[in-house]
Amino acid sequence: MTAISGAVYWNGMKGVRTLLHDQVRTIIVLTVIGLVLAVNGIWKLDWPVLFNDAGILPTSSISPRTPPRSTGLLNNGQPADGGMDKPLPADSPPRSGEGDAGPQPDYVLPPVTAGLAPVVNRIETSRPVVFLTIDDGMTASPEASRLLNRYRIKAPMFLNDVYVKDKPDYFKRLIAQGMTVGSHTVDHTDLTTLDYAGQRDEICQNADNMENWLGQRPSLFRPPYGDYDWNTRRAAADCGMRALVMWSAKANGGSMQYQDGHGGLVAGDIVLMHFRPEFAQDFEAFIDAAKAAGLQPVNLSEWLRPHKPLTDASI
Ligand SMILES: [Zn+2]
Repeated sequence: MTAISGAVYWNGMKGVRTLLHDQVRTIIVLTVIGLVLAVNGIWKLDWPVLFNDAGILPTSSISPRTPPRSTGLLNNGQPADGGMDKPLPADSPPRSGEGDAGPQPDYVLPPVTAGLAPVVNRIETSRPVVFLTIDDGMTASPEASRLLNRYRIKAPMFLNDVYVKDKPDYFKRLIAQGMTVGSHTVDHTDLTTLDYAGQRDEICQNADNMENWLGQRPSLFRPPYGDYDWNTRRAAADCGMRALVMWSAKANGGSMQYQDGHGGLVAGDIVLMHFRPEFAQDFEAFIDAAKAAGLQPVNLSEWLRPHKPLTDASI
């Protein structure tokens, strides 16, 4: 029976096959190709994303993959995507670029009083923001420029003549990216070893040279080593500085250091780092700490602008 049935079936199919029209064959071929492409596409999806723990296909399963919680930096500090024009991962802190300046300042810089520039250690704010500052200018690496640009970080650079005079073009490019120039003395002197006139020369000459070399006159001053006295505050004010800017946290040696006993960044912290060979590691430590604290890096120069009144919208 089986052999007879098989023969009948075979003969019948033979007849059917002869009836297949070219168009029908074309439809079958296209259908097979479509199935192959569909299976291939599903295979490329992330299966854990496709199915939840219950094995049910969630309605949002075809949305983009959840990005990894990472700064996008490799161990060597290079961006994982190797480029500066790639978009940030979705979980990166919002950029502080133009048009996306972040929360409006709710801080007003105290004025110069009795001839003394005010000292700013951190910013008293209710906004979830943090401030990066970068000092000295010893190492001019393209990597620093790329990272700052990639994260759209705009921040003051407190620069010394001794580091800027040989490579002003490097800092001009950073200024074109939105970085600003602060004063940090001519040769990184501990100002408390000098009298008023000596301190004034260090600060005023540095400001003059930065303006000549970089086209931007500083109006914020950071004393080298954080050491200052009354003469420093008076000399800074006399050189046109609106404030001495200190810091409340550091990115140093690839890790963060906090003052005031904090275990992490808090809103309003001013973070110090340097143009050093380990720039990428320090920068990554800062970005990670800002993310962990849920803080957005914003431009300290914007927050310390003169005569910036509070508006109803910013209260
Ligand atoms: Zn310094």
